[in-house]
Amino acid sequence: MCGIVAYVGDREAYPIIIDGLRRLEYRGYDSAGVSIINGSFNNYKKQGKVSDLEQLLEGKDLHGTIGMGHTRWATHGVPNDVNAHPHLSGDGNLSIIHNGIIENYASLKQALENLGHTFKSDTDTEVLIHLIEEIRKGEKDLSLEEATRQALQKVDGAYAIVILEKDNPDKIVGAKKSSPLVLGIGDGEYFLASDASPMVKYTDKVIYLEDEEIVTIERDKGYQIRTIENKVTNPKVLQIDLKIEELEKGGYDHFMLKEIYQQPVTIAESMRGRINAAEGWCKLGGMELHMNRFLNAKRIILTACGTSWHAAMIAEYLFEDLARIPTEVEYASEFRYRNPIITPDDVIIAISQSGETADTLAAIKSAKTKGAFLYGIVNNVGSSIPRETHSGSYTHAGPEIGVASTKAFTSQLTVLTMMAIILGYQKGKISEDYYHRLLSELESIPAQVAKILNKSEQIKYIAGEVRNASNALYLGRGYNFPIALEGALKLKEISYIHAEGYPAAEMKHGPIALIDMYMPVVIIATNESAREKIISNIQEVKARKGIVIAIITEGDDKIKEMADFSIEIPMIEEPLSPLLSVIPLQILSYHIAVMRGCHVDQPRNLAKSVTVE
Ligand code: GLU
Repeated sequence: MCGIVAYVGDREAYPIIIDGLRRLEYRGYDSAGVSIINGSFNNYKKQGKVSDLEQLLEGKDLHGTIGMGHTRWATHGVPNDVNAHPHLSGDGNLSIIHNGIIENYASLKQALENLGHTFKSDTDTEVLIHLIEEIRKGEKDLSLEEATRQALQKVDGAYAIVILEKDNPDKIVGAKKSSPLVLGIGDGEYFLASDASPMVKYTDKVIYLEDEEIVTIERDKGYQIRTIENKVTNPKVLQIDLKIEELEKGGYDHFMLKEIYQQPVTIAESMRGRINAAEGWCKLGGMELHMNRFLNAKRIILTACGTSWHAAMIAEYLFEDLARIPTEVEYASEFRYRNPIITPDDVIIAISQSGETADTLAAIKSAKTKGAFLYGIVNNVGSSIPRETHSGSYTHAGPEIGVASTKAFTSQLTVLTMMAIILGYQKGKISEDYYHRLLSELESIPAQVAKILNKSEQIKYIAGEVRNASNALYLGRGYNFPIALEGALKLKEISYIHAEGYPAAEMKHGPIALIDMYMPVVIIATNESAREKIISNIQEVKARKGIVIAIITEGDDKIKEMADFSIEIPMIEEPLSPLLSVIPLQILSYHIAVMRGCHVDQPRNLAKSVTVE
C-alpha cells in the first residue's frame, strides 16, 4: 500500500509526480504529499485524496526538475495532514516518502528521543529520516546513500523509500525491502515508483529493484545500485510492454466497470497460446518444465489472501475433482505463522494479483526453506512473487486498477482450471472425452461471459430493488460455494452492505435466523449435481419471506418461478461454472454501490496491493 513516485531530469517534476500519484492512487488514498526542490524544499501534504492535494497546490510555485510524491494508506498514525508523507528530518534538510512498516520504530524512536530528537508525526516513517540524520551528524561528509545504507541496517520491517536532500538538487536515493520499487531509465531522466505506471509515458526501460538494494540517482552521472552490504550490483534493464491506454478508464465511469467488461478479452488472454481444443492440447510453459513435481506431488497447498483466496478455494475443488490430488487452501497470513507441516513432495501455489501481497510473499519464503516446490500465479509482471517461486504462470489480465478485483480473479481461475485439466488428463483421472469437452467449453468461456455482460440492465434493475438492504446472504454449493463468498465480498467491499457467503446447506445451522422480508439472498443455483438440494434451500428462504435472487442455468423455468429475481447464465460443465456465475455477482455489486453513492474504485479503508502485513 502507499504509492510512491520520484523524478529527476530536464522536465518539470511536478506534473509527472501528480500524474504518477493519480495512477498509483489505487494503492492508498487517505492522504498525499509532494516534495520538490527548487532552491529550497517545497513540501506540501494533505489528508484526503490526490485531488485534495491538487486543490491545495493550486497557484503554488512548484517549479523544479527534481521531486517526489506519496499517496498514503496509513499503518502508523491516523490519516491527517501531519502524518501524511513526505516527512522531514529534524533540521529540515532531508525529506522521505515510504511504503511499508518500520517494525522496530518504537525502540529507534526512543533512542533518538534520548539524543534530543523530537517528532511531529505518529508515523514509523519519520523515525527513519531522523535516524539517517543522526548517522550523518557524526560525519558531515557521509554521503546520503551511505547514511541511508547504515540506517537500513538498523531497521526491521518492510520499506520502499525515496529520500531527497534540500542542498543536493541533483540526487535521489531509493531503497527497498519487501515493498516494490521500480527504477525507470529515460533519456537523461530517471523515475522511481511503486510500479511502472507513472513512467510508461516516458520510458519502457526499467529495473525492478531487489530486496535490500539501494539506488543512487545523480542527474548527470546516472544511477548506481548497491546492496545494503555495500556490494555494487548490475541488474538487467528490462523492457516493459505496458501501454498508457491500459491505465485509463477508456470511456467507462469506473475502472471496476471497465475491468468487468474486459473479461471476455482478459480470460482469452489468460488462455492465449496455452490451449487449443481443436487440436486437443492445453499447456502452461511454467508447468511443462516441472511436470514431474506436479505429477508426483503428494499434496497441493494453495495460499493467497482476499479474492485470490476464493480462486484458491475453487482450485481445491478442481484439483481434487479432476486430478485427484489432495489439496489444501490456506490464508497466507495464517499459513506463515502456524508452523505448518510442509514436505519436499508438496507443491505450493501462491496466488496474487499484484505479486506483492506481503503475507503471501512471506508464506512462500518460509515454505521454500522446507524444500517445497513453489509455483506463482500472478498478474503483475516483474513483481516479487514470481522472483521467489520456482516457476509459475502469469495471468495476463493487464493492469487491474479498481480496488475490488474482478478480471484478475477470472484470469486466475482460468489458469487454475487449465492446470487442473492438464493434471487430470496427464494422471489419467479424466476420460479422453471429458478432457476434450472441458477444453472446448473452456475456450467458449469468453463468448459466454460476453453474453452475461449483455444482461447488465436487467441486473441493474435487481440492484435497484435491493439497494437499501443492510444485510445480504450469498449461498452456493460445491464449485459455487467459493463464488458465494466472492459475491458477498464484492458487495461488502464497495457498497458497505454487510454480506456473508455460506455453503447453501449450512444456512440451516445459523444464518437462517437472519432471514426476513428485508433480507436479499443470492443463491447460485446452476449446479446440476445439487439441483434438488438447492431447490429445497430456495424454498426454505422463501418460507421465511427472504428475497431470492437466483443465478440459474438458461431455461431453468422451475427455479425462475420460485425466485423473486433470476439471472440466467449459459449451461456449462460444472467445474467451469464459477467463471460464469461470478460475472452477474460482480455486476450486481457494482450497480448497488453506484446507486448508494459509494466510491466504487476507491472503497473506504481499502487499498489494492496489500504490501503490509
Ligand atoms: N507506515 C507508513 C505510514 O503509516 C507507510 C504506510 C504504508 O506503506 O502503507 O505512514
